[in-house]
Amino acid sequence: MHGVYENGYIVSTRYAVLVERPSFRTALVRGMRGRCPRCGKAPMFQGWNHLHERCAVCGLDIEARSGDTWFFMYMSTAGLTGTIVVIMFLLRPRVLWVGQLLVMVAAVLVIGVSLPLRKGVAIALDYLITRNREEQGQAGG
Ligand SMILES: [Zn+2]
Repeated sequence: MHGVYENGYIVSTRYAVLVERPSFRTALVRGMRGRCPRCGKAPMFQGWNHLHERCAVCGLDIEARSGDTWFFMYMSTAGLTGTIVVIMFLLRPRVLWVGQLLVMVAAVLVIGVSLPLRKGVAIALDYLITRNREEQGQAGG
């Protein structure tokens, strides 16, 4: 891990920046915006949905975390799909195939458009979950 932790601050040895340890909420909001959850200063994505290997400012590993995000991505996709199906039943379209078509389009749009947002949140969550372990490892060594 690229960072040395001192008194809640992260002193990146490789990138020579001082980053305040973000709160849970701050890290999540940064993830939603596609920013690095640790420093918030650099984007996580290059292009629309492709992750940087690590943060350009603080050096946080980003791409490596995407392997831990599949469960969140799967569950959130299932949740969105379920919501759309429920909406379809509630709306009761007059012409069934038009309703089905609209639901299909809505599903593709909602699930597709929200993909970077959900991935950003998933990576922020992974960062929040693992950072205590990383910091303890740093303190010992
Ligand atoms: Zn960063």
